[in-house]
Amino acid sequence: MTLAGATSLDRLPPLREVIARYGLAARKSLGQNFLLDLNLTRRIARAAGPLPGHVIIEVGPGPGGLTRALLLEGADEVIAIERDERCLPALEEIASAAGGRLVIVHGDALAVDLTAYLAGRPAKIVANLPYNVATPLLVGWLQADPWPPWYSSMTLMFQREVAERIVARPATKAYGRLAVLAQWRTEPRILFDISPRAFTPPPKVTSSVVQFTPRARPDPCDVHLLEQVVAAAFGQRRKMLRSSLQALSLDPLPLLAAVGIEPTRRAEQLSVAQFCALARTLTDDRA
Ligand code: SAM
Repeated sequence: MTLAGATSLDRLPPLREVIARYGLAARKSLGQNFLLDLNLTRRIARAAGPLPGHVIIEVGPGPGGLTRALLLEGADEVIAIERDERCLPALEEIASAAGGRLVIVHGDALAVDLTAYLAGRPAKIVANLPYNVATPLLVGWLQADPWPPWYSSMTLMFQREVAERIVARPATKAYGRLAVLAQWRTEPRILFDISPRAFTPPPKVTSSVVQFTPRARPDPCDVHLLEQVVAAAFGQRRKMLRSSLQALSLDPLPLLAAVGIEPTRRAEQLSVAQFCALARTLTDDRA
C-alpha cells in the first residue's frame, strides 16, 4: 500500500532546520522539549501501532517530529492540538506534504473537546505530553464517560517519576491516586525510557513511554465517588483509614466494615478492587 503523501513527507527538511527557520526557541512555560530524531519518533509511533484504520489524536505536536512519524507509520489521519502559534507554519508544511491526513487545531488541549473531530471513527491517543499539563490531561482521558472510551489505546510520554506512579503497586511509596485511577480503567505498561539527551533542550530527568490499554469491563463503580474515596484516603496517606476517610464527611467505621477492611489499614495497603468496593458502598450509603 502506498500512503498518500508518504513520499513528500520523506522529503521534508530536517527538524533542526525547521526550528531555526521558524525561530522555535523552546519555551519552558509550555513544557517544550522537542524530539528531533526521526528514528526515535518512528519507534514511538510503532509502539502505538498498528496505526492504519485509526485517527490519531496528538497533543502538543510542536515542530512535528512525532507527527511526521505517525503519518509515515500509516495513521489514517492525525489531529494535532498545539497551543503555541509559533509552531503552526511548521505544522502547515507537514500538512501540505501529508495529502489531507493532518488536521491542525490551534488551542489548549485541556479546553478542546477532542472527540468532536472524530465523528465516531476509531481513535488512539499518542503524545509527547507537555509535563505541566500531562497529569490533568491523563486524568481527564481516564475519566471518559461512557466507558469503554472513545480511544482504543493511549501511548504517552511522561517524566519517569510520573510513569512510575502510574504503574505503581500497593504498598509502595509511588502508589496513589494516579495508580488507582489508571489501573482501575486500563492496563498501563512502561514500554521504554528515553534519555534526556534525546530532547532539545534536554530536560533534567529521564522520560518513559507508557502504553494504556482500556479494560473492557473495569470493576463497576462511579468514577467521581472513586476519586473522592481515593483523595480522602491518600490526602493523609500516613494516617489509618478510620481517620483519613473522615474527610468524606461520614463515619468511616460502618463504611470500612461493610467492605471488610480493617479500620487500622492505610491507603497504600488497599488494592484497586478495595477502593472500588468502598466507592460502591458510598453510592449505596447516599442512595
Ligand atoms: N511533540 C513534540 C515533540 O515530541 O518534539 C513536542 C513535545 S513538547 C514536550 C510539548 C508540546 O505541547 C509543545 O509543543 C507545547 O507548545 C505544547 N503544549 C503545551 N501546553 C499545551 C496545551 N495546553 N495544549 C496543547 N499543546 C500544548
